[in-house]
Amino acid sequence: MGTYFHSVNLDEEKCRGCTNCIKRCPTEAIRVRKSKARIINERCIDCGECIRVCPYHAKKAISDPFDIVNTFKYKVVIPAPSLYGQFKAVYSRNHILTALKIIGFDEVYEVAKAAEIVSSATRKLMKKSDVKKPLISSACPAVVKLIQVRYPSLIENIVKLESPMEVAAKVAKMEIAESKNIAPEDIGVFFITPCAAKVTSVKARYENGSSFVDGVISIKDVYLKILSSLGKVRNIEDLEQAGFEGIRWANSGGESLALETEKFLAVDGIHNVITILEEVENDRLEDVEFIEALSCVGGCLGGPLTVENVYVAKTRLKKHLDAAKAKGSDVHEDEKEYSGDFALTGNVECKPVMKLDIDLAKAMKKLETLELINKELPGLDCGACGAPSCRALAEDIVRGNANETDCIFKLREKVRQLAVQMMELEAKMPPVLDKGIG
Ligand code: SF4
Ligand code: SF4
Repeated sequence: MGTYFHSVNLDEEKCRGCTNCIKRCPTEAIRVRKSKARIINERCIDCGECIRVCPYHAKKAISDPFDIVNTFKYKVVIPAPSLYGQFKAVYSRNHILTALKIIGFDEVYEVAKAAEIVSSATRKLMKKSDVKKPLISSACPAVVKLIQVRYPSLIENIVKLESPMEVAAKVAKMEIAESKNIAPEDIGVFFITPCAAKVTSVKARYENGSSFVDGVISIKDVYLKILSSLGKVRNIEDLEQAGFEGIRWANSGGESLALETEKFLAVDGIHNVITILEEVENDRLEDVEFIEALSCVGGCLGGPLTVENVYVAKTRLKKHLDAAKAKGSDVHEDEKEYSGDFALTGNVECKPVMKLDIDLAKAMKKLETLELINKELPGLDCGACGAPSCRALAEDIVRGNANETDCIFKLREKVRQLAVQMMELEAKMPPVLDKGIG
């Protein structure tokens, strides 16, 4: 199965084995065994749902420490549009971007600007007749991974364009190297992320050197630094590059609204995304041409590494959107400006980790056994066995990772049977031995 890097990790010390997380995981990637949670790496899509629900903060997302910026001579920050919603609306976008320079960056390139480039490329793609529709956005790496592990038949529908984060890093590096005559290897590009899935997507590409991002810092980790710098800004620089269409990507529906089609569907929240992907798989959304699917409720503003409540952040972002709209922005200019190739690097591979066996005949046999075991389980989905459902326990048993007696009802039945057998045994004791014992 290969190795998997995951931003989402477990702090075993903090885990109390409460099982709260197992039912929220969209890919049934968590089991609780011996009173500790365990993540099945191949299944985890880094959606961060378990981080949100753990009452003991035992699930955490690993991102880069701020110090990583010091490993490069020229430091460029690429902030996610969701960053703007984290601060009070009295701070303009230029104010926030200037504060980013104060905390240690030489230059800023807005991911919102790159989002406009991706929108422009997607509009062109939509007009092509040889693409499989509905096209599914590739902007959310958790959704892309979900499709890889659970809905491989929909891989063809994924928009094969780089995400705004990768486009921003690529364009920033190219432009700065050329305009400032700096060697590309001296330029470090750092993404300020609202989610764990983007950390994973960058790190997973390090192995083949296909990411242009040199470090991923979480909004949570850098928030206080920016907040204290906002008060230190004396001259607000004019650093804004993006228009409202790019900033709008932070909200669910923002990407779709830039596509000049009414035949789109925007869905947010990983469990809602699953419902919609099932509809697509069953050919029930033939009238839809584009699907924007985001793992977090509310879109990236609701990412697990943000600091502000998603609805508060939405209200704050609206001020920035209104300001950008008032300024006016001609997004379509980008179509002339950027003819660069932003096609996705590498293939989106199928990762059939939910399959019982790669051999179809063996998989069918195992499925039969699984159904038989499942029928014998109580069907309460209580989670006491450490699996998210009775069916998941049946699957674990078939895979050789659990026993029937992990189910407390089955265990009780077994104990009862043993008690009856012992009583029967006692009744059968030879009289001489019986006396000895008495
Ligand atoms: S929610 Fe999951 S990770 Fe958190 S304490 Fe409970 S079992 Fe452990
Ligand atoms: S990050 Fe998402 S997929 Fe991974 S273990 Fe947590 S809930 Fe499951």
